[in-house]
Amino acid sequence: MTAPALEMMRCDKRSMTLSKAGCARLWLSAQEDRPKEWEGRFACIGCRVGAMGAGKPMPVTTEAVEAWRNVCPRCRRPAQRMIGNRFCVSCWNRNREATVMKNSKGNPPQVLLARLHSEIVAVSDGAATRVVREESVVDLAEIIVLHARAATGALAFSRPAAVHAG
Ligand SMILES: [Zn+2]
Repeated sequence: MTAPALEMMRCDKRSMTLSKAGCARLWLSAQEDRPKEWEGRFACIGCRVGAMGAGKPMPVTTEAVEAWRNVCPRCRRPAQRMIGNRFCVSCWNRNREATVMKNSKGNPPQVLLARLHSEIVAVSDGAATRVVREESVVDLAEIIVLHARAATGALAFSRPAAVHAG
C-alpha cells in the first residue's frame, strides 16, 4: 500500500493551491496565534473552509468581529491600519491633539474637545451583564464598536437602567 495522495484544493482567499490538511493547519494556527494584517494567515482567521477542514465549528461571531476590526470605532470609517487597536490614523492624530490640547496651529482642538465626554453602556453576553464606562468618547456608538471589535461571543448592548454616571 502506498500512502494516500494528498488531497489538494484551491484557496481563493489566498490565491494558492494547497493540501486540505495544510489548509486546516493554517486555520488552526490562525486561531491559536492571531496573525497580523500583513501575514498570509490573516485571511485564514474567519474562513469557513478552514474551520470545516479542521473539523471545528466556526464561532458565529468571527465574521462580524473581523468586519468590525477594520472599522475605526470613532469615525466608523473603514481603516486598513489601526493604532493601538483603537483609532484610525486620522482619529489618532486628532485625539492626540485633544490630549495635549494643541493642534497643528498651536490651538486647543475646540470642536473635538466639545464632543468628548464619558459614556456608559450595559454589555450582555447572554450569561452576564456588565456596565462599562469609557471616559473619552464622541458618542455611544464609539464604545459599542470598541466592544464589538473584541467580542468572543454574541453581545447585546443597552443603556444601563439604574446606573448613575459619576
Ligand atoms: Zn477614525
